[in-house]
Amino acid sequence: MEFTINEDQQLMVDGFAEVMRSRAWESYFHECDETSTYPEEWVKAICDLGFDRILLPEEYDGLGLDWVTLTAAYEVLGRLGGPTYVLYQLPCWDTVIREGTEEQKDTILSFVGSGKQMLNYAMTEPSAGSSWDDMQTTYTRRDGKIHLNGHKTFITSSMHVPYLVVMARNSDDMSVYTEWFVDMSLPGISREPLHKLGLHMDSCSDVYFDDVELEDKDLFGTEGNGFRRGVKDFDLERFLVALTNYGTAYCAYEDAAIYANQRVQGGETISRHQLIQLKFADMKVALTNMRNMLYEIAWKQDNGQLGRGECSMAKYYCSHASQLVVDNALQVLAGIGITGEHRVQRFYRDLRVDRVSGGTDEMMILAAGRGALREYREAGK
Ligand SMILES: Cc1cc2nc3c(=O)[nH]c(=O)nc-3n(C[C@H](O)[C@H](O)[C@H](O)COP(=O)(O)OP(=O)(O)OC[C@H]3O[C@@H](n4cnc5c(N)ncnc54)[C@H](O)[C@@H]3O)c2cc1C
Repeated sequence: MEFTINEDQQLMVDGFAEVMRSRAWESYFHECDETSTYPEEWVKAICDLGFDRILLPEEYDGLGLDWVTLTAAYEVLGRLGGPTYVLYQLPCWDTVIREGTEEQKDTILSFVGSGKQMLNYAMTEPSAGSSWDDMQTTYTRRDGKIHLNGHKTFITSSMHVPYLVVMARNSDDMSVYTEWFVDMSLPGISREPLHKLGLHMDSCSDVYFDDVELEDKDLFGTEGNGFRRGVKDFDLERFLVALTNYGTAYCAYEDAAIYANQRVQGGETISRHQLIQLKFADMKVALTNMRNMLYEIAWKQDNGQLGRGECSMAKYYCSHASQLVVDNALQVLAGIGITGEHRVQRFYRDLRVDRVSGGTDEMMILAAGRGALREYREAGK
């Protein structure tokens, strides 16, 4: 397996590092976190260097690069303190290009390079979280129009995205799950923000659809294919969550290492204490495992060898391993980590959310376990 990237790709990754060092971004991130504001200035700065074009095919004016390059980009941005969790939709062009109509594609691709939030997907409802069997949102064909009714919950970015792909069931045949490309300025749509434990730089809200009038042209993908489409595209999202967890942990680790070598107690730096050294050993093991797992998965995807359940495994592992790292980092920072405005305190809150959003730990375990067993079934072993 070869994880190195070519010179041009390395230049781009180095460019991301330069952006991170070009400004004291942390005070900006802190303010965005405090005010629950999307850090658009930062996202625009990295999009100017092509961040959102990494996986976009060249025919759409993208860079057409691979998952290994994306991994290197996330690694450097996270390591240097960037809130990469706000970037989830930016590498996910594949779904829109594959499922969208020409008009939908043009609409969404017009956001490339802007740094603005443009789209997210809404499946979850109060009665439909880990399982979509009891989804209640419906669409009904009446008088040549489609009428959307229902209530989605916990929808990321939904306070500000101009478009939402909404999964609904056909009211005449509830076995048919279909997705609709919904312009969020339409009458009948209302949103209520939710306050969450962490990840404050991206919004999360309840979204209500009260007889929202759509047209056939607003169909996203194929009628009746919504369920399958949603499940199929989970892998990249889960991988991006794992990448974010790793980068965040890396940043906390380095903050703690610098501090441990400076902080003097009882006449010597705390880094001389074996109990502190133990924490760095544990942190380094976790970081090394996360890194190796993530680059291996990226390489496998780029080489057509990604196995079922591997991205779920990475999300499950990295969300826990990163928490271990950040918890240890916080212990090293002690009082200044717990009080005041240290970013590791924010990371601690942020990481916990990822064991639920994008699919819970339990669902990751089930997907990873099923994937592992299937390998042996398929091989007839
Ligand atoms: C911050 C955040 C952002 C989110 N963003 C989006 C978004 O953009 N779009 C969207 O559609 N959804 C989004 N979600 C929803 C998210 O995917 C769901 O919260 C998640 O799938 C779990 O659903 P639930 O909260 O209803 O928990 P439930 O499904 O009710 O689960 C409760 C508990 O039971 C466990 N459980 C459930 N079923 C099983 C089972 N079969 N076996 C074992 N254990 C089980 C779960 O793992 C969990 O521990 C977001 C959630 C959060 C918190």
